Amino acid sequence: MGGLRADGTWRNWAGNQVARPARVERPGSEEEVSALVRRAATEGRRVRVVGTGHSFTGIAVSDDVLVTLDGLADRVEVDVASGRVRVDAGMRLDVLNPRLLDAGLALPNLGDIAVQTVAGAISTSTHGTGLGFRSIADAVVGLRVVTGDGFVVACDGGQNADLLHVARVGLGALGIVTEVTLQCVPAFNLHAVEEVRPVDEVLESFADHAAATDHAEFFWMPHTGRALLKRNTRTTEAPSPPRNRRHALRRRWKRFKNEEVMANAVFGALNHLGRLRPSLVPRLNGLVAGDGRAEYLTTSYEVFASPRRVRFYEMEYAVPVDCGLEAFRRVQEVVDGLGRPISFPVEYRVLGADDIPLSTASGRDTAYIAVHVFRGTPHEDYFRAVEAVMDDHGGRPHWGKLHFQSAATLADRYPGWEAFLAARDRLDPERRFSNDYLDRVLGA
Ligand SMILES: Cc1cc2nc3c(=O)[nH]c(=O)nc-3n(C[C@H](O)[C@H](O)[C@H](O)COP(=O)(O)OP(=O)(O)OC[C@H]3O[C@@H](n4cnc5c(N)ncnc54)[C@H](O)[C@@H]3O)c2cc1C
Repeated sequence: MGGLRADGTWRNWAGNQVARPARVERPGSEEEVSALVRRAATEGRRVRVVGTGHSFTGIAVSDDVLVTLDGLADRVEVDVASGRVRVDAGMRLDVLNPRLLDAGLALPNLGDIAVQTVAGAISTSTHGTGLGFRSIADAVVGLRVVTGDGFVVACDGGQNADLLHVARVGLGALGIVTEVTLQCVPAFNLHAVEEVRPVDEVLESFADHAAATDHAEFFWMPHTGRALLKRNTRTTEAPSPPRNRRHALRRRWKRFKNEEVMANAVFGALNHLGRLRPSLVPRLNGLVAGDGRAEYLTTSYEVFASPRRVRFYEMEYAVPVDCGLEAFRRVQEVVDGLGRPISFPVEYRVLGADDIPLSTASGRDTAYIAVHVFRGTPHEDYFRAVEAVMDDHGGRPHWGKLHFQSAATLADRYPGWEAFLAARDRLDPERRFSNDYLDRVLGA
């Protein structure tokens, strides 16, 4: 995991962003957050709050005052009747999920990990998959935020509703979020079916799968002609008890193989080997893709999210869903024409439109295409070539994943761009919360 080190530096999870903050603040209350912002204002310092450092971009980096909300990460207040849950902004999703389950509730959708903080996840428009579902930020119905002058603004449907509308995906540019209220749904299970199939067949049929399945996605393993198609269907059916001990062990092994062996330990070892001998990568990818099929049913968050222990760099783009598969095919051409093997899969997901100004799915049903490389391996030519494809489709980069855009290239891609800038001028006119990344993507 990334985070603060004994030598005073801060690193993100992937290790490609390093900061040397002048001061680290660990507030234990909203009053302490206000006080530290006021102090920084008096000193003319910039302030940046970090979550768990799972962004690949420099969005969380601070060489001035760095704030961690580990001390504001525990409180959960559930209103069972409405399904609304008020939580500390620094709470991690994997801490929140079991506590929601205890209350008979769940988040409507999740990404493929759950170690992010609530505020970190919503701030970058973190999402999962499913055309009938939306990003995590879309579940936000209330926020409390400490603004650039240290005042607290409470936003919900009744008060400051215009600010709530914008601040759900705030990039950390509008202030320090101290509390989030989430509209949850009754707890549910997911019936997961995972199959390795020829990638051409998956591309042909994916639009139907996406329309017919709650949560569909696929991973193409470059140089193999194969893809892992994942389909998750929501259900209240309980997991069936295993028929016998052997059956139980076989079930456990199948999941373990998918998550731990293929996605983590063995995958990591194969990537190390591929770095030493790039010519082996296509054969190694074949091993990872395998021929398997797994089917299981369990609690929603255990299916949506799984551990990622192999570190990588990632770029992800959001394009209108109607041109998603065409853009994906062009990414395949980029990979095939790159002149060196790529050992990480290309991921494809879909999501319903929302109305949040800087959400990557703002105003349009969306397809997400994500490319990855093993940490520490060359990626700029690959990612730039993929970005050129996405530019042709009005692509919006994930705020927390690598890209090369600037405010000048991004402004036209968001219908709510000006509304966001106006909220920023209102909440942080002195740019107390800016950093180099925000100066680049939002303008100084
Ligand atoms: C292995 C891996 C898997 C991932 N999977 C997915 C996925 O499936 N889907 C997806 O969309 N993304 C995914 N991501 C990206 C990740 O969800 C985002 O980058 C997310 O923002 C990380 O949350 P964090 O808590 O680590 O925040 P950080 O990366 O630490 O910070 C992100 C931003 O949030 C701001 N922020 C944090 N706390 C606050 C606060 N209290 N108030 C105001 N601003 C705040 C920071 O200033 C910064 O701007 C993945 C990343 C990794 C490394």
